[in-house]
Amino acid sequence: MDAEFFADGDRVAVLTTEPVGVLDYRAPADGVALGAFVACPLGPRRVAGVVWGPGESALPLERLRPILALPDAPPMQAELRRFLERAAAYTLTPLPAMLRLATRAPGLWDGPATRRVLHRAGASPVRLTEARARVLDVLDAHGGAGLTAAELAAEAGVSGGVVRGLVDAGTLSEALAPRDAPFARLDPTRPGPDLTGDQAAGAALLRAAIAAGGYGTTLLQGVTGSGKTEVYLEAVAEALAHGRQSLVLLPEIALTAEFLGRVEARFGARPAEWHSGAGGADRRRVWRAVARGEAGLVVGARSALFLPFRDLGLVVVDEEHDTSYKQEDGVLYHARDMAVLRASVAGAQVVLSSATPSLESWVNAETGKYARVRLSSRFGPAELPDMRAIDLRAEKMETNRWISPTLARAVAARIEAGQQALLFLNRRGFAPVTVCRACGEQIGCSDCDARMVEHRFLRRLVCHQCGATRPIPETCPSCGVEGRMAAVGPGVERLAEEVAERFPDARLAVLSSDLFTTARALKDRIAAIAAGEADIIIGTQIVAKGHNFPALTLVGVIDADLGLQGSDLRAAERTFQLIRQVAGRAGRGARRGLALVQTTQPEHPVIQAILGGDDEGFWRAEASGRRMLGMPPFGRLAGVILSSPDLDSLHDFANALARADAPLRAIGAEVYGPAPAPIARIRGRHRLRMLVKADRRAPLQSALSQWAGALKPPANLRLAIDIDPQSF
Ligand code: ADP
Ligand code: ZN
Repeated sequence: MDAEFFADGDRVAVLTTEPVGVLDYRAPADGVALGAFVACPLGPRRVAGVVWGPGESALPLERLRPILALPDAPPMQAELRRFLERAAAYTLTPLPAMLRLATRAPGLWDGPATRRVLHRAGASPVRLTEARARVLDVLDAHGGAGLTAAELAAEAGVSGGVVRGLVDAGTLSEALAPRDAPFARLDPTRPGPDLTGDQAAGAALLRAAIAAGGYGTTLLQGVTGSGKTEVYLEAVAEALAHGRQSLVLLPEIALTAEFLGRVEARFGARPAEWHSGAGGADRRRVWRAVARGEAGLVVGARSALFLPFRDLGLVVVDEEHDTSYKQEDGVLYHARDMAVLRASVAGAQVVLSSATPSLESWVNAETGKYARVRLSSRFGPAELPDMRAIDLRAEKMETNRWISPTLARAVAARIEAGQQALLFLNRRGFAPVTVCRACGEQIGCSDCDARMVEHRFLRRLVCHQCGATRPIPETCPSCGVEGRMAAVGPGVERLAEEVAERFPDARLAVLSSDLFTTARALKDRIAAIAAGEADIIIGTQIVAKGHNFPALTLVGVIDADLGLQGSDLRAAERTFQLIRQVAGRAGRGARRGLALVQTTQPEHPVIQAILGGDDEGFWRAEASGRRMLGMPPFGRLAGVILSSPDLDSLHDFANALARADAPLRAIGAEVYGPAPAPIARIRGRHRLRMLVKADRRAPLQSALSQWAGALKPPANLRLAIDIDPQSF
């Protein structure tokens, strides 16, 4: 067994967050624990790392440099170290890059968790200058204590000398205080709501699994509004009662406000929040509280999976089908898979919650790999919305109008009745295409294989791949003809224009991620809509995610065909999930909802499945299609993206790689491509993609790293391997 502690002068191996990875150092005078977070010298710099094991270097001890600093934090536990190693191996990510995900607490190495604060000690000094009086006023305003000398001087607008003078005079004295405010404890003994029969059965199953200890995954499959959140909060209660920590992942920060409120109502205190938008001090505070086991529940974005939980008992992945759980740059991982991996290492339970599970999770529940809890009806009197298609071929559509007469009548009726309507169009901006009517030229991004999208609120064209913007041209950049540029097709902004014309008295709310500069602004807008401060809501896919708008009774899907185009094998699954989720926003209050789906192909099997409500039939059909093709989840896929600014050397390397496929053939894998990637150029880099398909049990990762590691790519070429790519 490895040593758990290294004494003064021992050789220790430190995994750094630098590309060099593991380096040997000398333990400091007070020794150092296995897993300790440390700062080490690397050349002239100081780098972060974690003590990973005994050092193995043959260098004489005096040549090894000593570890410099230890933050006041508990060592990383064996569980997290194992998880990082396994996650690195699974995603083919270098271990230092994985460690970086687990050390994103700024200021962790910046000194102790306590700080010297000043408080009132004696009477006011005899010589009470104006500056001194201001210092005392500031301190009194803070309740007489709690600020450091520097903070006090800054806030009072005086020099440090004035504050020191008060200390010397005995008016103020110094004491140590914890640096971070503690988290309030959540109380699991508070009574929850009375659960329905289905809910109670589900909660009992989850509670029993947590009480028994050990790893397991349960798919919590329930229609929108059936009480999935109530049920998994029971699992959180059980974990809290056992002194174990829970993590709830949400796909969208805008959803946290409502969730925090529900947790507070249930457990009497708010959970810790973790997301990359949080400030450094907040993240540091949460990180420490998690490491010490003081935070019983963390709600966060996918990066919360890498927090140093002391005793993780439960991970909930809410809306587990959501595409935002896949991290698409840097370290490529899927939060759902990583949740399962982390829990299996930690001996924790996983709850995957969704009304429209991913096909992967559905299949795993069917085969018994996951347990399943079903909630088949909405809570209380609320019923699932009535779903109907509007056949656009039979409607009289006006040019450059996207709302059919039938849908317009339905919207008018809701407004008349004082209810809300939501129009869903999964396209940001005003118009997806800007075209010259003289020559037919479409304005594209100069660095990407993508059209520029007109954003009228910004008065600019924007590339959705690289973010580049430019003014909307008056003159065609190709033929030079003036005044013939036209916006083609609808985006949410254009839809908003149409709605404003048709319903001039209605209050509109447009929800699109690009229209909000901060998460807080989006949260506030959503809360305002829920409170009834809008009549018509127009939104992109952010409206599909779990929001609760009680007065909303009508959902109109502007273009259901949008997601069904293209060759992606996941298109059907995605469209089904998205439209079902959006429709699920309707009728969550007392009145029954209606969802109207505009389409030119009402007979399409996916549209039929959405309208017919035979969810199980849909998944069964999808699953059998995938099984026949050996596609995920029945086979495994890896995407290999090669990119370079130079197309010729890119092709040469890709072809050479394709010919060197012996390691892949050895495991029976098939290689498709190289072919242009779904987006063939981004930020000036050409992109080719290969797909590798293997049997589920084949050792795909080791074959891939052998294969990709055998050829040395030219200097400007990047190779990224995406295990389990989300589009194929
Ligand atoms: P889901 O997560 O499945 O969409 P929620 O847990 O958000 O469903 O429940 C929908 C609504 O019904 C929420 O307002 C919730 O508070 C309420 N609700 C669900 N179950 C109960 C219950 N047993 N008692 C009281 N209210 C409930
Ligand atoms: Zn671009």
